[in-house]
Amino acid sequence: MEEMNRSQEKKQAEELTYQKKSYYDGASEETMDAIFKYASGYAAFLDKAKTEREAVVEGIKMAEKAGYTPYIFGEKLEAGARRYYNNRGKNLFLIRKGTAPLEKDGIRIMAAHIDSPRIDLKQNPLYEDSQMAFFKTHYYGGLRKYQWLAIPLAIHGTVVLQNGEAVNICIGEEDADPVFYINDLLPHLAREQSTKPMATAVSGESLNILIGGIPCKDEDVSDRIKYHVLEYLFEKYHIKEVDFQSAELCVVPAFKARDVGFDRAFIGAYGHDDRVCAYPAMTAMFENADEAHTILTILADKEETGSDGNTGMQCRLLLDIIEDLARLDGVSGAAVRAASKCLSADVNAAYDPNYAEVFEKRNAAMISCGAVMSKFTGSGGKSSTNDASAEFVGEIRRMFAEDSIVWQTAELGKVDIGGGGTVAKYIANLNIDTVDMGVPVISMHAPYEVISKADLYALYRAFAAFCRLD
Ligand code: MN
Ligand code: MN
Repeated sequence: MEEMNRSQEKKQAEELTYQKKSYYDGASEETMDAIFKYASGYAAFLDKAKTEREAVVEGIKMAEKAGYTPYIFGEKLEAGARRYYNNRGKNLFLIRKGTAPLEKDGIRIMAAHIDSPRIDLKQNPLYEDSQMAFFKTHYYGGLRKYQWLAIPLAIHGTVVLQNGEAVNICIGEEDADPVFYINDLLPHLAREQSTKPMATAVSGESLNILIGGIPCKDEDVSDRIKYHVLEYLFEKYHIKEVDFQSAELCVVPAFKARDVGFDRAFIGAYGHDDRVCAYPAMTAMFENADEAHTILTILADKEETGSDGNTGMQCRLLLDIIEDLARLDGVSGAAVRAASKCLSADVNAAYDPNYAEVFEKRNAAMISCGAVMSKFTGSGGKSSTNDASAEFVGEIRRMFAEDSIVWQTAELGKVDIGGGGTVAKYIANLNIDTVDMGVPVISMHAPYEVISKADLYALYRAFAAFCRLD
């Protein structure tokens, strides 16, 4: 009798309390297979899509395979129509029209970003000094400069020539390719530098890329190593020095995505933030057979620099597309927006016991404990955030419960210790219920970030539930 009471008590305690648990803990063989299989597809995507331009190219390939065709403004979409809109090669919209009336059901939006912190070339980058040729750079997004020194780097991007032709460049990814490099100081001579705060120890202007060291044959020209590089660029790509003026060349880590750990629980890669949300949003949309809801996946550019510009989330293109869909259905765009729901798909920081002092453990994202919802982001007193309503979080929670989604809530670090934002507020500002949903990341914004395969798969399942359920 007493035994029974004890087990009843235990059951009641389980029901009344909330505890996070690793998705891996007790997962069936079938679930483990699904987690690992999904992760390998994602890793392959990562290696092909290191910049927003490449992510758009890969996204379109995947969309076309799933039957998507280009969206044209002014075209009325029938239920089941699948379209993509390529905004300047850096921002992609994927649209699938549902059967439910737009003004009542709204649009289910998933918004991720496909730009990642990196190092951009300046518009007049090439010079030589002391038997070495370099590119001058200006870093992109919030990065810790010291992490980018002394690692293999690749150059990706586009150069628009005088005649208007765009030349795409990708060097440093194949095994036979050369890589590029930012020099670091040897410890023997770093005594003074080592006493400086990390934020100032490496200056932005010292992030110069080592690109060559052999002089050209012609002894009459000045800067013979620089000239030799130009000879190579002209021969291979028809690029002249002046063409850098109309170029977007990005320096990214030359690393490939790899499993991390003896048990391969994690994936290490460049640019999980935010392709770890972009890929699940796309695949959840493509693989979902249910046709009721109209689904819109947005892969935005410029999130890491504030979402400004005509490929960023603050561009009114989203509004234009919603207005267009509404007008052609003969309904009010305002009504469609008011009925719409959005998962702003972005990462959060995984709790790291090595840096426990910056986290509040009860409200931090625990690695492998599932997709992470951030009701609010921002910093210092919830400044500059979309704070999703309890009602909307409740709605999403019910959806996730229906599909047994493994998820958790978290905020980014301790109160007043820092903070960060996402695209959520820009979508919420359009009168759309929005909440952040993503994956916990270890070493966010580092050249090599780490995520858990379990969290990736949990997010994919969460997005699939959002696309399908009422
Ligand atoms: Mn992000
Ligand atoms: Mn970021």
